[in-house]
Amino acid sequence: MRRLSEKISAIASSATLEIADKAKKMQREGIDVISLSIGEPDFDTPPHIRDACIDALKRGETHYAPSNGIPELLAAISEKITKENGFSCKPEQVIVACGAKDAIYEATEAVLNPGDETILLTPAWVSYEPCVQIAGGNAVKHAVNTKTFQIDDSLLEQVHAKTKMIVVNSPSNPSGAVFDEKSMKLVADLCCDHDIYAMSDEIYEKLIYGKEHISLASIGDMAQRTITINGFSKSYAMTGWRLGYAVAPVEIIRQMSKVQQHSVSQATTFAMWGAVAALKGDQRCVEEMRTEFDRRRKFVISDLNQMGYETAPADGAFYAFVKVDGDDMEIAARWLEEAHVAATPGSAFYAPGWIRLSYATSMEKLRDAMQRIRSVC
Ligand code: PMP
Repeated sequence: MRRLSEKISAIASSATLEIADKAKKMQREGIDVISLSIGEPDFDTPPHIRDACIDALKRGETHYAPSNGIPELLAAISEKITKENGFSCKPEQVIVACGAKDAIYEATEAVLNPGDETILLTPAWVSYEPCVQIAGGNAVKHAVNTKTFQIDDSLLEQVHAKTKMIVVNSPSNPSGAVFDEKSMKLVADLCCDHDIYAMSDEIYEKLIYGKEHISLASIGDMAQRTITINGFSKSYAMTGWRLGYAVAPVEIIRQMSKVQQHSVSQATTFAMWGAVAALKGDQRCVEEMRTEFDRRRKFVISDLNQMGYETAPADGAFYAFVKVDGDDMEIAARWLEEAHVAATPGSAFYAPGWIRLSYATSMEKLRDAMQRIRSVC
């Protein structure tokens, strides 16, 4: 038979899944594995959001909707962005997609031509590079300073004639770092000086502990060249709803819209009504979850530091990023086999020598997991 697509064959399958699959296999065999490998809140979606979706189903919101999203949600997102993120956004600058991941995929397809380069700041989340590759582009990795986890002038060295886009993710998965104003301004200057687009993945913006979230599009003229990615999975514990969105100049949204129209068509109609309730409803649920994550974060970081591990500044998201002495793949495998704790090796995020632990799990499990790690370290 003829060979399948070379482009897709060249893409690595998700490295984060390897340990997770092994952990699941051990669990099936009856071994009590604590999984700190998942990037998913352990909370259920708040009741008022679920109710709004159920009501929508009951009143028959079961039909096709406009491809970019229901007008009520586009309006709620544009209001939220204008009010909270420091730049103005009209509803026609918004597209609702099937998760932030889908929005990221559509953005890379809309911006990149074959051979265009996209700078990824590493450690970086696992799906940016495959999305760039699917769009025919090349990912160029640039490591942030692993003491401060901020960006410095060395980033300039990565800019070439083919550089078309840079991806910024703050708060970061996997490091938990939050870029400060200096880092963000550096990216903004680079984009404006060299005519580069930016994709700013702000999905963890609400999960931030004592630092200020800065939207890249709020700096100078950056709104003209920035695709801001956000979604409902992390802030509102809505991972399974598959709802995310992008905010960008209308011309970019138009191109993304074509990708959406000819692939998934739209996000699920009744689910979008849940998202309207999430944005328009009481925001105390977000703060309650953030406070609980903060409590767990303090416990995990201080326990790891007491064990002698160095950790990245855990200022956002729900990950502890731990420096290990040796091969992170081997150490993560040992933690799994001997301590029965599943964690993700930093190599999956282009950061060998580090391990990512998710603290989006109960305090009881976290206490147990820390004891177990202590016993093998
Ligand atoms: N961006 C980052 C940095 C993420 O960690 C994730 C989820 N792991 C996503 C995007 C995708 O989120 P969604 O569930 O909205 O597709």
